[in-house]
Amino acid sequence: MPYSNQTAGKGGHSDFVRNPDVQNFLQNCEYLKPPSDEEAESMASSFMPAPSGDPSRLPRFVVASDASKSDTPVNDKLPSTQLGFIKVSHVLIVMDKYAELIAPGSRFVDPFKVADMHRNAKPITFVMPGSNVCYKGAANVRDGFRHAVYDQLTANRRDEANKMVLTETLFALNDGKIRIKTCPSHSCESLVEDFVFTPQQQTHTCKACGSIIYATDALRLHEGISDFGNNTSAMTRMMNAVEHLLLVAFITELIEADPASLGKVAFVMDGPLALFGEPAKWQPRIMKLIYRANQKLQSLGFDPLLIMGLQKTGIVMDHARLLEKFLPPGVIRVIDDEYRHKYITGSDKATEDFGYESYYGQDFLFKTERGRIFNFALPYPFEVKSGLGGRTAFSKAKVELSNYGSLIERACDLIRHFELDLYDNAIVPVALAHRHASISLVPGGKVLDLIAKAGISHR
Ligand SMILES: [Zn+2]
Repeated sequence: MPYSNQTAGKGGHSDFVRNPDVQNFLQNCEYLKPPSDEEAESMASSFMPAPSGDPSRLPRFVVASDASKSDTPVNDKLPSTQLGFIKVSHVLIVMDKYAELIAPGSRFVDPFKVADMHRNAKPITFVMPGSNVCYKGAANVRDGFRHAVYDQLTANRRDEANKMVLTETLFALNDGKIRIKTCPSHSCESLVEDFVFTPQQQTHTCKACGSIIYATDALRLHEGISDFGNNTSAMTRMMNAVEHLLLVAFITELIEADPASLGKVAFVMDGPLALFGEPAKWQPRIMKLIYRANQKLQSLGFDPLLIMGLQKTGIVMDHARLLEKFLPPGVIRVIDDEYRHKYITGSDKATEDFGYESYYGQDFLFKTERGRIFNFALPYPFEVKSGLGGRTAFSKAKVELSNYGSLIERACDLIRHFELDLYDNAIVPVALAHRHASISLVPGGKVLDLIAKAGISHR
């Protein structure tokens, strides 16, 4: 029985689950269940000792990002008329200075020194029309949302002379050209169009309906927008997309302007390395861009870039918590498709291509020597998934540890260095970024400028 170890919840959840109709329904479902001791021992035996550098090869800078969103009524009397806010916060940690944050004789971070670091962080804010708000004279909520996506992604997100504009990032991801095959306007009946966008021409007018089409419509975020009902899921997709686009913006800027500094940075994302829903088809391009950046770094004699997605919640972490007590400290496992389907998704049928559509990173489970468990992801180390000889070949290649070079070891060392006594399954940079995304309202993105300045002082 899946729930036999669970204590009764306060909210009547257990009563609900004990209902015979619900029990009958569950008989017909497959889902994650706590393993028996025997199963858990068998899973645990498939873990291996986690690699560590001697000495640890830590980056010189860590950039951690965290995104949050909220929907807010435009006024108290109109609760259904809302604006949406997305905030992406970045915290830059200069490793030399991090040592100073740790109170002597403990692993606790000095809160006063952390407060100082917060003053360096600037969340980037995106304001969007939500339910029942038509932006800039649009005929409907959805067309207004398209216009707002364009305006928000075309805004410069950097205060100083250098620009950081996410539409430029989209073009960089797409080799300078974006195509849209059908008019995205809500009411348009034109079936055959071929709009070609370039950095010089980022909008077109549809001949059939007269609507303006934006290059950013290629993200398809508006497809989740309706005129009635809430737009929460479209906002979640957008939050996910802009967080990863900002990562790409950092990489494209630094690989051109200052590859030496890029080689010294590690990026830590809060969540999986994936794009979900309508924008998902952009993820192969992110994977390709990271691959190419690494090739360039390698040709210049630098290490490949450490980009890590850390997941604090989700089904893999649920599984990890069930398994945790059976694992010795200091072990790691790559989550291959067979393991995922047998032990995590609880499905009988193994599909051989988890991650093919949405993910650009591979999951690992890591229990540290101090006994905390982490689910981290590293970018798939390939230029294209299909170039490996089909989905089965991709399924095998993505879990071949040698394809990741030194990155697994460096990821483990980074987690060990930053694991925190205060929170479970969090590391310091992400905890800081998260706190910042939750509290601050200061606009602007300064991480690149800070890296540039700090980079110069480290040469
Ligand atoms: Zn049209």
